[in-house]
Amino acid sequence: MHVLLVYAHPEPRSLNGSLRDFTVRHLREAGHEVQVSDLYAMKWKAALDADDNTDHQPGARFDPALDSGHAFEHGTQSADIAREQDKLRWADAVILQFPLWWFSMPAILKGWVERVYAYGFGYGVGEHSDARWGDRYGEGTLAGKRAMLVVTAGGWESHYGPRGINGPIDDLLFPIQHGILYYPGFDVLPPFVVYRTGRVDEARFAGIRDALGQRLDGLGTTAPIPFRAQNAGAYDIPALTLRPGIAPGRTGFAAHVDARGSQDQRQG
Ligand code: FAD
Repeated sequence: MHVLLVYAHPEPRSLNGSLRDFTVRHLREAGHEVQVSDLYAMKWKAALDADDNTDHQPGARFDPALDSGHAFEHGTQSADIAREQDKLRWADAVILQFPLWWFSMPAILKGWVERVYAYGFGYGVGEHSDARWGDRYGEGTLAGKRAMLVVTAGGWESHYGPRGINGPIDDLLFPIQHGILYYPGFDVLPPFVVYRTGRVDEARFAGIRDALGQRLDGLGTTAPIPFRAQNAGAYDIPALTLRPGIAPGRTGFAAHVDARGSQDQRQG
């Protein structure tokens, strides 16, 4: 497989740095081709702005979506954005690796998403009409590819459990896994989360490394989270709410996961 690792930690000698090095080595030893976008090392520009469209006229009103779409369509995106899109096209699987910072991804990685997911690439894809709301949530530019999060968190696993004070980890990661990965078409594998990072020593690190190795071995085969596809009959259009017969009584993030665990949402 072709694997793209998008990595966001400022310090190579960190726990994240060790896990990144392990991931690259492990995947290459298994015969995969790996590219790494090391965002801090690349000095990735996180802020989406008018400079992202090299064709933007000085003084003209900047519209983030329209300028993005224009630049994508006419080949005037800034080169760093186009390079990352090429890596995404190349990849069969994408791993986003980051420390949990304020219950989400570090700003530099959010900025990677905002800039690389151009209009016409990450969103605004497919037919938009009264009968169809584009190709997204299970369809889109990145359909057929797999994605997985590798996340480290200072908090304990119980803090992120079903009744934990921080909220369940699946809920916290929903905007990333569903909103950022499933939206443009990725099949999203369950995340690999390391908790209580302040208590990692050599012995625990060895266990974490082995567990991560097993998840990497399953990158091509692990069943994805069964999010419900937008255009497969579960949602009323254009309201895009779940049809009354689907998951009756269930609300919130979990309602958008098919509890039957069906891997092929298009059947049901
Ligand atoms: P490091 O600090 O580099 O390492 C952690 C431990 O692993 C250290 O004890 C280190 O000695 C050990 N270690 C590293 N490499 C190895 C190795 N090769 N072998 C053996 N041991 C090793 N946490 C939350 O839970 N929720 C939050 O919302 C949250 N927000 C945060 C916001 C900010 C701005 C910051 C700075 C931290 C936040 N944290 C939060 C904590 C954060 O998630 C952790 O600090 C981070 O995940 C730890 O990852 P690291 O790579 O920086 O670890």
